[in-house]
Amino acid sequence: MGRVFVCFWFDVEDYVTPRSDDAVMRLAQIFSSLGETATFKVVGEKARRLRERERRDVIRAVAEHDIGYHTNYHSVHPTPSEYLVDLGWEEGIAEFDRREHGGLTDVEDVFGKRCSTYGQPGGSWAPHVYPVLRQWGVPTYVDEGQHIGLNDQPFWYGGVLTVYRMRSRCTRMKLGGGENLRAGCGEFDRIAEELADTGGGLISIYYHPCEWSTTKFWDSVNFAAGQNTPLDALKLPPLKAQSEADRDFADFEEYLSHIARSGVQLVSCAALPELYPDTWNTAPLGTEALVSLAGGMADAVSYQQTPQGWASAAETLGVLANAGAHLHRTGMLPDVSEGVYVEGPASRPPATTAAGCATREAVLEACTRLSDAVSVDSRLPHEVRIGEASVSPAAFARAVAQVVAAEAKGVHTRSIDIEDVPLTCEDEVIEEGAFRWLFPAGFSAPVLMEHARLQSWTLKPAVLRK
Ligand SMILES: [Zn+2]
Repeated sequence: MGRVFVCFWFDVEDYVTPRSDDAVMRLAQIFSSLGETATFKVVGEKARRLRERERRDVIRAVAEHDIGYHTNYHSVHPTPSEYLVDLGWEEGIAEFDRREHGGLTDVEDVFGKRCSTYGQPGGSWAPHVYPVLRQWGVPTYVDEGQHIGLNDQPFWYGGVLTVYRMRSRCTRMKLGGGENLRAGCGEFDRIAEELADTGGGLISIYYHPCEWSTTKFWDSVNFAAGQNTPLDALKLPPLKAQSEADRDFADFEEYLSHIARSGVQLVSCAALPELYPDTWNTAPLGTEALVSLAGGMADAVSYQQTPQGWASAAETLGVLANAGAHLHRTGMLPDVSEGVYVEGPASRPPATTAAGCATREAVLEACTRLSDAVSVDSRLPHEVRIGEASVSPAAFARAVAQVVAAEAKGVHTRSIDIEDVPLTCEDEVIEEGAFRWLFPAGFSAPVLMEHARLQSWTLKPAVLRK
């Protein structure tokens, strides 16, 4: 039986309805009274309003828990996917930092602790967020949506531990009384059992405290489908009757107690990095592992398993290029290789034109240039020059892999085939249905999703610590 972990997270975002402040506090108190920890992902404007409304009681109750960040203004347009929609990679990274860093600082100041995670408003996801989280020192991305995922379990993307598109491993009891409590507990038990039977893993459960205070979402009445009510004219969503709210709190407490007693372990987002360490570069890779990585690049490029953990496609290419550079310099493959983090390219590579050949020397020279470039900015270039030709990083990966594999057998291949291979991990990036109710009808983000596919070079499974 595998171990099952459950992460409860709350998006604390309704800065319109003062009564929702009490709902946040009551939920924090429910977890505290059971000795459990939840994660509260707070919007910058919500944190500021709690401070202005002098809700020190709410702030104290929530600060006993784990704190995350949920953007500065949440649904105010343009939201992150909207303002990043057509931006280049560098430009988008700078723009997300410029617009959102202040809110992070406010949330951390108000609650007196560092944020353990970030998640986007609605479906307003973007790949540019990930390098910024690394800069900010926010170790996880936890939310639910369609844009990217891997096997309904945590994964690494952009160098950040991510819980997203959990689908079959994301559940919640519906609020509203009646049979919901029994149905919610039943569904939880079924998922936990399935997960335990298949090696264990994580279940993601999320709510919004405002679901206990209003019958419609605060932002659906102000910001749905692209509408943009000014901050000083925000409409109040209809309040939930107190008796109904009380019933929903009572049901939730029962639901949580049921889960806490069911043999699983509740964890906050802050506990996830320790639970899912990135282990592939904790020890040097030997020649056998190097050759195995090279063999995996023959027909397609994707993440791969090494003896000590998963390497992303970019990390694999980084290691192979370093080995090629070593071979170029010394005439021998390295005995051991060090793994380093490598980001995907900032723009679409050229299509590698008609299959051709290159000399071993030209491939090794290219390895030296790529290895030097990656050691400076930890990023794959969007094209690699081999002799006179410009090829995609995927075609280059395949070429280096051929040299390394042959060299390990003592063969000096004279001529290397240059041919494009698919980056199969980019198939995990899906736009269809991902940008929904918050967005104006017909919103689509081809440039943004192209960056998402380019960064799938960094995608790989996250594995539970033994
Ligand atoms: Zn939200």
